[in-house]
Amino acid sequence: MKIKKWKGILVFAMVGLLCLVALIPGENRAVKEISYIDFWSLAEKGEILSVGMGNEENWEVTLKDGTAATTPNPRSEGVKEKLLQMDIQVTEKQGSDESGIMLAVSALFLGAMMIGLRKNNAMGLQKYAAVQANENIPKITFEDVAVSGETLHSMKDLVDFLQAPERFLKYGARVPKGVLLYGPPGTGKTLLAKALAGEAKAPFFAMSGADFVQVYVGVGASRVRELFKKARKAGGGVIFIDEIDAIGKKRDSGNDEREQTLNALLTEMSGFSGSDGIIVLAATNRLDTLDAALLREGRFDRRIEISLPDCEAREKILKVHARNKPLGQGISITDWAKRTTLFSGAQLESMLNEAAIRAARRNTNVIDAEDMEEAYLSVTVGESRPTVISETEKRITAYHEAGHALITHQMLPEAKLVRLTIIPSSRGAAGYAMSVQPDKLLHTRQELMAMMCAAYGGRAAEEIIFGSDFITTGASGDLKKIRNIAKAMEEEFEMGESAKQLEKEALEKAMHCLKENRDTLDRLAVALMEQETLQTDEIYALL
Ligand code: ADP
Ligand code: ZN
Repeated sequence: MKIKKWKGILVFAMVGLLCLVALIPGENRAVKEISYIDFWSLAEKGEILSVGMGNEENWEVTLKDGTAATTPNPRSEGVKEKLLQMDIQVTEKQGSDESGIMLAVSALFLGAMMIGLRKNNAMGLQKYAAVQANENIPKITFEDVAVSGETLHSMKDLVDFLQAPERFLKYGARVPKGVLLYGPPGTGKTLLAKALAGEAKAPFFAMSGADFVQVYVGVGASRVRELFKKARKAGGGVIFIDEIDAIGKKRDSGNDEREQTLNALLTEMSGFSGSDGIIVLAATNRLDTLDAALLREGRFDRRIEISLPDCEAREKILKVHARNKPLGQGISITDWAKRTTLFSGAQLESMLNEAAIRAARRNTNVIDAEDMEEAYLSVTVGESRPTVISETEKRITAYHEAGHALITHQMLPEAKLVRLTIIPSSRGAAGYAMSVQPDKLLHTRQELMAMMCAAYGGRAAEEIIFGSDFITTGASGDLKKIRNIAKAMEEEFEMGESAKQLEKEALEKAMHCLKENRDTLDRLAVALMEQETLQTDEIYALL
């Protein structure tokens, strides 16, 4: 009995010592915070010894005089190479940078088990889960993401659910399980998922679709199960699967591995219930390629489109990332938002980062206009998709979309105009006019004709404003739609002699309608050029 007790105390002491040792390098050392700009000027002066990069908020920096410091992680690609070229040691750590604490915690846990708290084993496990969960809670919140009010609203719903799933269950509400975020790369889908977890103080578990699809059959599926197991163990949280299209492509025969992985994901998703407090978020930029099984009820049945930011959103994003950067007096965020029409959030962030680096190189106190100009250029070159839209293109797209909207309003009064924008959508169109039409069983000839006119609205506006020699290829989707309606009218409904004739009639009507309302057309187009996106009430105010 006595011996046993001594043994326990000894183990406890050892574990305590271990904890101390583990904590020393991480915690007891005075850590200085330096701004990103200062970091680069130190780097230029050759005063930095090493940088520890991870997926975390901050980098760990060690100066040549031994000082330990941290600096904000810019999360920008190519920085590592720059540092290496400056002869700075770079280490990349996976996962958390509180590895010291983690080690200590594991040691403590191990110790507790060894001392023989056997009857409390279950409690020990629970505690561990709680600690691990804390480790995984992101520090960022919605403050760090600039998204549209609509998107934020949907996300806030999810926060409520994560914080108190019981409340929803009590009322018998079907709780959300899977949410698909879709839109072009760099628009903040990952950031948003992380911020959701941070906002709800819930742990975050992430993986990329590409990680699941391994060479060996079965590995992907077991990784999926592992991921869900971790989340359940932590008592719930946000599971984020980036590039879900890598596993969720429409099934093609002959890819066993992907098939198995997808099935494992579907099984896991039907397996957890609301009380687990798990929400799965997935991101893709190709909604059209996803397997229908993924989109069914109880799986990813909520979808949120994250589009390229419009002018107002760009201003917000720039503000978020300018927070810790000394911008010179003459630099107007509003003007820069106006100039960066096709930029994604990631590109805006990297533009500001590039400007900060330039300022640091020059060793001045502020980022000046020239830094911004050069940063702008460096972001626009070498991009695979167009990032610069000319004033002419902007004008053409604005008139095109305004044309659709105006005719819809005039000829389909039951349709509601929801949104008008010149920012390209993830569906590939240059801009779009979105309207919702009531579902009907029967359509009159007049209504079908009006639909054709509305679809012609874009082309007709281009022709009126710029002349028939300058109509563009931007209307190809519209023309396809018109052709389909005309064909159906002729062949199925016998509403006309020849489809071509019907199309001609529609175009003439569309042109006529726009000419009659030329001033409204101009008003809409000008507002679109100014604001890039118009919402329902703004559209109707202009009409
Ligand atoms: P995605 O997952 O859509 O490809 P990310 O979330 O990885 O995009 O975005 C990359 C980086 O770009 C973010 O870490 C952030 O710095 C910046 N960013 C993108 N969108 C936004 C946004 N809406 N608000 C603030 N920052 C953004
Ligand atoms: Zn169109």
